[in-house]
Parts: sequence; structure tokens; C-alpha cells
Amino acid sequence: MSEAFSAFVSHLECSETGEQYPANQAYNVSNAGYPLLVRYNLNALRDALEPGTLSSGLPGFWRYSKLLPLGPLEQIVSLGEVCTPLIPLPIDAITSSEGPPCKVWIKDEGLLPTGSFKARGVSLAVNMAKQLGIQKMAIPTNGNAGAALAAYGAQAGLEILCYCPRDTPPINVEEMRRYGAEVHLHDGLIHECGAEVQARCDAEGWFNTSTLREPYRIEGKKTMGLELAEQFDWQLPDYIFYPTGGGTGLIGMWKAFKELKAMGWLSRDLPKMICVQAEGCAPLVRAFERGDRRADVWENAETVAAGIRVPKALGDFLVLDAVRESGGYALSVSDDAIRAAQHDIATKTGFLMCPEGAATAAALKRSLTEGLMEPGASTVLFNCATGLKYLDLAS
Ligand SMILES: *Cc1c(COP(=O)(O)O)cnc(C)c1O
Repeated sequence: MSEAFSAFVSHLECSETGEQYPANQAYNVSNAGYPLLVRYNLNALRDALEPGTLSSGLPGFWRYSKLLPLGPLEQIVSLGEVCTPLIPLPIDAITSSEGPPCKVWIKDEGLLPTGSFKARGVSLAVNMAKQLGIQKMAIPTNGNAGAALAAYGAQAGLEILCYCPRDTPPINVEEMRRYGAEVHLHDGLIHECGAEVQARCDAEGWFNTSTLREPYRIEGKKTMGLELAEQFDWQLPDYIFYPTGGGTGLIGMWKAFKELKAMGWLSRDLPKMICVQAEGCAPLVRAFERGDRRADVWENAETVAAGIRVPKALGDFLVLDAVRESGGYALSVSDDAIRAAQHDIATKTGFLMCPEGAATAAALKRSLTEGLMEPGASTVLFNCATGLKYLDLAS
């Protein structure tokens, strides 16, 4: 096995057909065109580790390196990745309606390098690319993924190419430029930017780093699930509200939970996964409601929450499978509800959520009002980026 890989990786696997691939090569999607998932020798991990001995001693989320694909870590590309805090959120900051008490925490991903949780996935992708000898990476982005890729790529000495919809938050576009990436603003949404990226990859040999077209970003996002398990002392909360665009984080967390469960480390049921989207771009919610496993393209997508404006997701079936298997549901909220939740939480608690994070709070409010949740449930909301990136948005 190549030294680029962790001792516990067994192979990669097509998420739809199960076809297996050796673990020491660069990949995009499977031969059948679906995302590839990294598989581990979980029996060997179970025999080698106990929950208390999980940490590799490395800082931040690299403490989980034994459950990650990366091999030798001496020359890691790092910008100071941290484990992010859980901040208790008083329920009356969200809703004044009387109801059963519900314990809520915000997982604040805004503290990661480049101010968003895209750092988790992208740091893994860049480190793996470096070890596999890839020199130029390209990405379609609504902002934060491109900013993270440009930053990690700068440190790794890689060339980075980003295609963004023309109305991507200006601060994100400026971030990419400051890190020296080649940035193009495109008249189209992110899936159309993805087609531009693919054309440049085909013509010029860029490595396509699009969501789920690269197998390691999902492993980085998996650290959110590992962190939650450890923070909750291996008894996961009842509900996780996740603002879903391409879905990497939801799929990654679900993968983490199943791996931990297979290792016998979890002493409670797995959380119900709640897929939150904006009313102006809710392809996964529509598919969930129809009972479908694939989602059609959402036409004329529009929302203030740029990070979840993804009209077509390659991993739609993986999100929908995870939501259903967990006993969760999918829910959309209006931009007005997003702004109202952001305002209420900021003025009552001093915590400024990004619009996508505020969408999860709005979805929790709806869930409580409509009685969708069990009484007294423990709940985690994901704040995926620092609210400071979005101060130019109308409140
Ligand atoms: C990318 C992004 C999301 C969506 O994450 P996925 O895992 O791709 O679904 C949500 N919020 C913010 C701020 C983002 O940057």
C-alpha cells in the first residue's frame, strides 16, 4: 500500500454499485459516474483503538487521523484547524411558543481556517492531492469552498482555478483572489460553473475538486461527526439540522456515525438527520416529499443563503438515503424566515449566524411549531461559516 494512505484504509468503493478500487491512486467518480467512498478496515480499527485512545495527539481535527485516509503527517498542509465548540442556544431566542423543552446547541464552524467548514473537506483534499502528485486543482464554488481551496492550495504550492456564479458574495471572491487563485465569474449557477470546470479539466489537465467528484472532501467533513460523538461522550444528540447544498457534510457525518457504530463506540441511537434547504432552492426537499431517491434540477434557484444554492447535487441519493435511514426529514424555509432567525439570535444571544446557519434555526422553529419533533429532544444546529462574511447582506 502506498505510504500516502492510512494503515486502516482498505479500498475505495462506488457509492451506488459497490465496485471496489485500490486505495493508492487519484480518483474522481467511479466508472459508473457516482461518488467514491473511502472504506476502512473497521475490525482492525476496533481491535487497535478504544474511544479514549482515539486521539493521535495531533492538534484540531487531525486528532482523528486514524479514521482519515491520510498517511504520514510530518509535512501536513495546515492552517490551524480546530475542533469547533458547541454553544448552547436558549430556545426562547428562536421561538416564544410554549412547548416541551428542547436542548439546543450551535456547532460553530465559523472558527475554522478561512471562516467556514469547507476547510475540513478541502484540507483533506489538498493534502491527499499533494501526496498523490496532483499540481493543479479546479472547483466550481458558491464562495467558501473556493476560498478554502485557494488558501490551502497556496500553502501547498498548487495552482487553483475557481468558477463562481456572478453573484457569489463579493468577500468570497476577494478571498480567492488574495490567495492567488485564478477566479472566473460566470453567468450561471454552480452546476453550470461545474460544466465550465469540467471543460477546463478535460482540456488542460486540472484536477476536478467539485463536491463529491473527489473522494476525500467527504472524509474531511466526516470529522464533524467524529467531533460531535466525542463532544457528546459517544451519546449522540437526537437531531442534527444541516443546511444542505451538495450534501457533503450530511453524508460525511452519517458515514462517521456508521463507522463508529460498526466499531461499537456509540451507546445510543444515531441522530435523526434533518436536511434544511431554502424555499428558493429545495431540490432535495422536493424529492424527499415525493418519495424519490434522485432530485431533479431546481430551476431559477434563488436564495440569500448562497452556500445552499445548489440546484443539482451529484450525491442527492446519498443525502436522501441518510435522511430516511436516520428517521429524519427534509424541510425548506423562506429567506424572510432565515433573516428573522439571524436577527433574533444575534440580538438575543450575541451570536451572529451565517444565512445558512440561520436557515437551520428557522427550520427548528418550524419543526417545533408544527410538532415535527419529539418532546425534549437534544438538537444540534450547524453554523457553517462566520456570520462576519455576510455583513453586506440586507438584514
Ligand atoms: C458549502 C456550504 C453549505 C453546504 O454544505 P454541503 O455540505 O456542501 O451541503 C452550507 N453553508 C455554508 C456556509 C457553506 O459554505
